[in-house]
Amino acid sequence: MDYSVSRRRMVEQQIVARGVKDQRVLDAMLKVPRHLFVEAGLLGHAYSDASLPIGEKQTISQPYMVAAMSAALELIGTERILEIGTGSGYQSAVLSLLASRIYSIERISTLAGRARRLLDQLRMSNVNIKVGDGTIGWKDQAPFDGILVAAGAPDVPAEYLEQLAIGGKLVLPVGDQQQQILLRVVKQADGSFQREQLMGCRFVPLIGEHGWRSDVG
Ligand code: SAM
Repeated sequence: MDYSVSRRRMVEQQIVARGVKDQRVLDAMLKVPRHLFVEAGLLGHAYSDASLPIGEKQTISQPYMVAAMSAALELIGTERILEIGTGSGYQSAVLSLLASRIYSIERISTLAGRARRLLDQLRMSNVNIKVGDGTIGWKDQAPFDGILVAAGAPDVPAEYLEQLAIGGKLVLPVGDQQQQILLRVVKQADGSFQREQLMGCRFVPLIGEHGWRSDVG
């Protein structure tokens, strides 16, 4: 089945219509086959305007949110990116087309394994995935030009600020376990941080040492 028409409609009606203009992001969203990243029973919803269950009480992010977070990083293609919460691997695949190297951390090994297989199938060899607690970042590979966190945090973990390069951008949802505000934090040349609120959002919780201790609130 050819999903390119569904993908084009998704980009026009869900992403461009909501104001995402970055052409590289739009092109990446047109290319990545989201239907490969959803469960077989949900194929008919692969290009719908929604997050969808992927097992383990986790979700593949809504296409608009993937595009908006990617655009908020303002990538030109040379960057090294840290992604927290690999999930299905869909956001990683989009980032793979937008930046030079992606370091992605997922705490649930079955999800990380499935994402690895899909990214290998798509020959996206610039994505490194490891299983672990992403709230501590990936110190060995820091600093990062961009950090994208795809799970809701109670606050901004200091580790992310430390592991950001000068001029680097951190995009993450902060709030309670029901709803969050998507923040963009940019590291300035003097080491200070400029914070900006982008929009309201709703993500599964970021669970770990510097996140929530569990997902029961
Ligand atoms: N963007 C992903 C996609 O498109 O499929 C979806 C990410 S899903 C909303 C959030 C993911 O974050 C879940 O897979 C969850 O297991 C993971 N997660 C939560 N806390 C984490 C942590 N401390 N370290 C790494 N991954 C974590």
